[in-house]
Amino acid sequence: MSILDILIYPDPRLRKKSKPVKKINDSIIELLENMAETMYNAPGVGLAAPQVGKNIRVITIDISSVEDEQRDLIELINPEIISSKGSQIGEEGCLSVPGFVSNVKRKMDIKVKSQNREGETIIYETSDLLSRVMQHEIDHLNGIYFFDRLARLKRELLVNKIKKEFVVNK
Ligand code: ZN
Repeated sequence: MSILDILIYPDPRLRKKSKPVKKINDSIIELLENMAETMYNAPGVGLAAPQVGKNIRVITIDISSVEDEQRDLIELINPEIISSKGSQIGEEGCLSVPGFVSNVKRKMDIKVKSQNREGETIIYETSDLLSRVMQHEIDHLNGIYFFDRLARLKRELLVNKIKKEFVVNK
C-alpha cells in the first residue's frame, strides 16, 4: 500500500465531474487500499478519488479514524443519494483545503445506493456525522467543495481567505 498525494485547491481536477466505475478490477481494489491508507495517514474521515487525481466515483470513509483505535472502513463505489430528509448544521473541513473549516448545512438523513468491491449493491441509511461525511465526499465526485454549500456572503468571505492562502501567495 502507498500514501497518495492529495490535490489541493484550486487544482482544476477537483472541479471535474467524476466518471462511474464500469468494472471493479485490480486497479480499483489497489486504489481503494491506497485511498484508505492515505485517509488514515492524513488523518481524515473521508477521501474521494478525485482528491488523489483519479476522476472516478470511488470514496473511502471512516468516521472512527480520528478518535477511535477500532477502524470501521466504508468503501463506496458509484454511490448515489436516492432519498434524503431533514437538515443539520455542522463543522466541516477538507483535506484538499487544509486549515479551513466552516459550518455547513446538510441533509440529516440520507439513503445511499452504492457498490462494494465485490460489485454487490449496498444500501446505506445514515444520519448525523456519517450522513454529513457521505454528502461531503459525494459532492467531491461532482466537483463540489464544502464552501460551495455556504450562503453567498459567508462563502465569499471564506473563499477570499482560501484564495489568499492557496492562490495569491503562489
Ligand atoms: Zn473534502
